[in-house]
Amino acid sequence: MKIMTDPPAPRSRLLKLLDWSDRDKCLLLSVLLWGYMFFICVWHQVTVHLTEFGRNYVSSQGTAMLNSVVLINLLGWALLLAWGGWLRHENRHSRIYPNVFLSFFSVGFVLLGWVFGLYSPMTGMVLMGSPLVGFILFGFTRVAWNFAFTVCVVLLLAWLSVSGYVEHAIYFARDPVSKQHLSYYWIASTVAFMVPFITSVITLVALLLGRWVHREKQIRDQALHDPLTGLSNRRELFAQLAHELARGRRSGQSLTLCVMDLDHFKRINDSHGHGVGDQVLVQVSEILRACLRETDLIGRIGGEEFVLALPETGAAGAATVLERCRETIASSPVPLESGDFLTVTASFGAVLWLPGHPANHALTHTQLLSRADEALYLAKGAGRNRVMFWSQEEEGAAAFP
Ligand code: GH3
Ligand code: MG
Ligand code: MG
Repeated sequence: MKIMTDPPAPRSRLLKLLDWSDRDKCLLLSVLLWGYMFFICVWHQVTVHLTEFGRNYVSSQGTAMLNSVVLINLLGWALLLAWGGWLRHENRHSRIYPNVFLSFFSVGFVLLGWVFGLYSPMTGMVLMGSPLVGFILFGFTRVAWNFAFTVCVVLLLAWLSVSGYVEHAIYFARDPVSKQHLSYYWIASTVAFMVPFITSVITLVALLLGRWVHREKQIRDQALHDPLTGLSNRRELFAQLAHELARGRRSGQSLTLCVMDLDHFKRINDSHGHGVGDQVLVQVSEILRACLRETDLIGRIGGEEFVLALPETGAAGAATVLERCRETIASSPVPLESGDFLTVTASFGAVLWLPGHPANHALTHTQLLSRADEALYLAKGAGRNRVMFWSQEEEGAAAFP
């Protein structure tokens, strides 16, 4: 029996990051970027004052320059953080805020890249990773302009460095990565700078992919299941049925197909309202789930019409199972808000399919369903609340037993 299972919903608020407002996304990123700049600031102070690398490779001009760049960044991110915090506190949104955020991001990182040398893995990673994160969080157009502008500035700065107008990698007195002097400290520092960046890119991409998978599953479930009862709808059931018949043709195993229709359901709706009608449908579907096997198929194909398919089940077994369903429905009154109970009954029309039999082998599920419908029609005519089987000999249905 196929039961719709809800895809697991994202649990924490952070997992719904992609649905946050631009203001809140910028606010979170401002906190993270302030932390990132603080990390660079600490690294810089430790490097300059406490390490051999600082004494050997870092220029005094570069030290002053990085002090200024880090200060600009720390102040800028703190201001953006305060602005976002204030907007959030006032429950306001601003179109300017995300644009200023993105522009400052470009300026801050281009300055940083310029101090360390634009031709470095860090600049490449920021130029690759930032637009990716930006596209995911803020949409294409907003980020594309920023990206195009940043690339132009990077190329301009690179040209100025090549032409000797500005100094390349001003931070360094001599190159820490060359054939003659390869600094392990600098390589490790570069990796440390890149790790938080790469982690956030991977996290965001994983969140986005996770959400796509979640949504795809949701849409698939909605397209294949009845929203009221969670049972397979007509489309899903017919596809499953065609598959079962193909399997039966190969294995030679019989299958019983049954159409079940609630008795006088219109009366229930008319006298108790559609809400109670729906409650009845839900209770009946739960009873069917409980009475059938895992491998049985069950679907709601119309208002109060259900189809049950019992693979690998012969006439006697099917009759017992269907009789149990009928009996359980009839003996499980639906509790009403008034405190009363409503007795519901259902009629069942079934057909046994024997794939080995020449007259049966090629039958389609539509042909089988119309035979089951014939049996149902006779069950209704015979007084309802009963199971009837389609019988070839009598060209109609036979009551069970
Ligand atoms: P019978 O015993 O001959 O089957 O009588 P009936 O009244 O059950 O048969 P009929 O097919 O004439 O009526 C089906 C009714 O089911 C019509 C409609 O009011 C109701 N119905 C269809 N879909 C829904 C639904 O999703 N929710 C509710 N509450 N009622 C529905
Ligand atoms: Mg009915
Ligand atoms: Mg009906």
